[in-house]
Parts: sequence; C-alpha cells; structure tokens
Amino acid sequence: RKMLADEKDADLSSRAPVVTILGHVDHGKTTLLDAIRHTQVAEGEAGGITQHIGAYQVEHNGREITFLDTPGHAAFTAMRARGAQGADIVVLVVAVNDGVMPQTKEAINHARAAKVPIIVALNKIDRPDANPEFVKKQLGELGLVPDEWDGDTIMVPVSAKQKIGIEDLLEAILLVADSTSIRANPAGKVVGTVIEAEIDRSKGVMTTLLVQNGTLQAGDAIVAGMAGGKIRAMFDFRGKRIRKAGPSTPVQIMGLSDVPNAGDIFEVVANEKEVRAIVEERKQKEKDRKGSIKRA
Ligand code: GDP
Repeated sequence: RKMLADEKDADLSSRAPVVTILGHVDHGKTTLLDAIRHTQVAEGEAGGITQHIGAYQVEHNGREITFLDTPGHAAFTAMRARGAQGADIVVLVVAVNDGVMPQTKEAINHARAAKVPIIVALNKIDRPDANPEFVKKQLGELGLVPDEWDGDTIMVPVSAKQKIGIEDLLEAILLVADSTSIRANPAGKVVGTVIEAEIDRSKGVMTTLLVQNGTLQAGDAIVAGMAGGKIRAMFDFRGKRIRKAGPSTPVQIMGLSDVPNAGDIFEVVANEKEVRAIVEERKQKEKDRKGSIKRA
C-alpha cells in the first residue's frame, strides 16, 4: 500500500485497521457508527459517548479497530483528493429495504479509486420489507459478489438500530485486515491526516488527527496544511489526556495557531521556528498562486 512516509520493510509493524463507513443517505451510517461505539463505550462514562471528535477506536478479540466518525464523505473525499490513504477498509452500508442508490454507487467508486477493500453491511434487516437477497443481486451486478456466491465481498446482515450483527461486522473487518498488509513504523517519521478541526471558545483550536506513521508526542511541533504550532495538550477519543500516540491512533490536540482543513496532511518538524518558516512559505505560495490566477 501507498504510505505517507517512506519506510524500510524491516521497520514496519502491523497497526490497527482504519475503517470508514460510506453509503447512501438514510441507509444507517450514523446509527451504525453509534451501535459500534456502544459495544464498548458505556453510556455516561467519563468523557464517553457524548464526545465526538471525528474518530474512535473499539477493541474486538483483543485487537483495535479505528473508525472514522465523519458523517458524510467530506473527510474521506478530502483525504483521497490529497493522495493520503486515510482508510484501510470501507464499510458500505446498504439498507436492504431500499437497495442500491446513487450514493451507494458513488461510494463504491470512491473505494475502488482509492484501492480500499469493501465490506458490505446489509443494514435494516429488522424491517418487515427487508429484501437482502435482492440487494445482494444488485450489488453483484456492480461487481460486488457475496462470498457465499463464490465472490470475494463479505456481506454482513446487520440491524444498526437493534444492534444485531455488530460483532460479526467487527469480525469481518479483522478478517479483511489480515488479508491486506496494514503496517507502519512506530519509530519513523511522524505523519498523518487532519480528521476535523474547530475553535473552542476556551481551549482555542481543537484538532483531531489520525496518526499514520511514527509516534506523536505532546510537545511536538507540527505543521498541518497552512496551520501549525506546538502540541500543548493531547487527548484520546475518550477525552483522556495522553502523552504519546502511535500509528492508527486518533487524537485531539490543542495548540495550533490556525484551523487546518479536514484532509490536510500533518507532520512533525524540528521546532516552532521551523513551523513558522514552513507556514509562511506555504502562505506566500498560496498568495502568489491566487495573484497569478487574478492576473490571468
Ligand atoms: P445516515 O444518513 O446513513 O447516517 O442514516 P441514519 O443513521 O441517520 O439512519 C436513517 C434512519 O434509518 C434513521 O431514522 C434510523 O433510525 C433508521 N435506521 C438506521 N438503521 C436502522 C436499522 O437497522 N433498522 C431500522 N428499522 N431503521 C434503521
């Protein structure tokens, strides 16, 4: 797989798969993300269920899986556009009472363009008008042939609403993860992708990052697109303060001077002086680019 950092094979070790959930509007992406989250994070837990930072992790059979919790395709599309392969696996949600719809096809095209394997979640199996066999046929016509029909796409019947089939889906994700090489160098160059960012009135710019290579540490100086700064504090997806985060870990950080864009690549640099120099250079380039467009 294409990686953000050039690393020698011998330095790579396996990391948690990063999963994004795509599908047509109203087919149950948000409900499914909540159902998966609920398998582990108890309601009312400190910082727990109410906090959404754009990504979370769950554990299944002692192994971690990272989910991008970004409603809509914004972050995924942005990442793809910048050539950063943010997700390792796409879970395509298809409501079995509705079948293949325009955004279902769009999601398949996105995943294929990014060469990311697809697992299908046949959602809403609890509905009386569910017709999973018909939907499997529809998907088969698009080249996603279910494994039970000798194809190579795993399709898992689920009800996100009634929390049925969630463990099977996690199982399927780990199976697909094992068949692809999902690796990084925890001791290598620290790079990753901005998942989302916002301004908090009291804390300043709060940025969610997905670390994709290396180990990010509190105090590191980073550049993310046109933003940069020193990490003043770092939190895991539960809101717990942490000091280090390795590959496939989503973190929320405090300390950037500006708000970066979802999909921006971030990297650790030597110090704040270097941050300022790089950001200045990028801003100047952007100005020049805009100037030349205006003149043209
Ligand atoms: P999204 O637009 O893809 O994020 O879809 P949502 O998660 O918002 O779900 C759209 C609607 O479908 C909501 O009213 C959900 O309650 C409902 N829904 C989602 N999953 C299921 C399911 O498994 N069974 C049933 N019956 N309804 C579901």
